Amino acid sequence: MPELPEVEVTRRRIAKLLVGRKISRVLTTKPSYFFLTKPTRLQQELLGRTVKRLDRHGKYLLARLDSGATLLLHLGMTGQLFAEGATSVRLLRVAERGAKTGFSPDQHTHLQLEFEGGGPRIFFRDVRKFGKVLLVHAGKSDARLDKLGIDALKAEGEHLHEAARARKIPIKTLLLDQGVIAGIGNIYADEALFLARVRPERPANRVTREESIAIVAAAQQVMRRSIRTGGSSISDYVNPDGSDGGYQKERRVYGREGEPCPSCGAAIVRVVIATRSSCYCPSCQR
Ligand SMILES: [Zn+2]
Repeated sequence: MPELPEVEVTRRRIAKLLVGRKISRVLTTKPSYFFLTKPTRLQQELLGRTVKRLDRHGKYLLARLDSGATLLLHLGMTGQLFAEGATSVRLLRVAERGAKTGFSPDQHTHLQLEFEGGGPRIFFRDVRKFGKVLLVHAGKSDARLDKLGIDALKAEGEHLHEAARARKIPIKTLLLDQGVIAGIGNIYADEALFLARVRPERPANRVTREESIAIVAAAQQVMRRSIRTGGSSISDYVNPDGSDGGYQKERRVYGREGEPCPSCGAAIVRVVIATRSSCYCPSCQR
């Protein structure tokens, strides 16, 4: 599932191809739960518009249009936002078996944008359709955005500490609450808790201010590192240029149940907290 770093990597690469270009054609698949704004409406609202800026808040991408409206894009579980000309083993395998070059839009390519003066098209492909597309009109807000906490890369330990002090839920669960800090997902929560030496099951109100500061700093450290290496490639995520992210090789505890802790050598254990799998070192994390 794409997390903040993957969304940020996508933002940086797509922004170069999207910002300043005028949309000349909008192609969609038929109406489905993928489209929070109906395809026909999207076509009307996007046609002829220019993208002024591409922002990110948590795991949402926000394309600011010259009409004042915002096109909200969420990659969901399996969403892929990329530009024409992308090559990826995964894209080719599923989309165009046997093809050697490029990608051709298939039935899972729900949104295609073409631009005045040509240049690469932008595709939003999503096999499972948990991704979302929504047009928010100028001056309007949307509950999805309103309820988000501060973006994880802008957060400070104090944000976490304030939210944690009165809660008895596991600190891991609180870290995944997008209303507290937006953008931290399972991988980075586990990695941050390992670096801060805090067990994921620990009740939030028993995490100290110093530990909260350490957790947020660690989350930002691993996310920034992941952004630099192109994000974590798992399941269907591909970078906008079709390449695979490199961060997954650097994970210390996430997905490494039974393997030795990189710090002390003890076997990493896996527990399930609020339906989410969590990995930690029973010796380093208290
Ligand atoms: Zn350890």
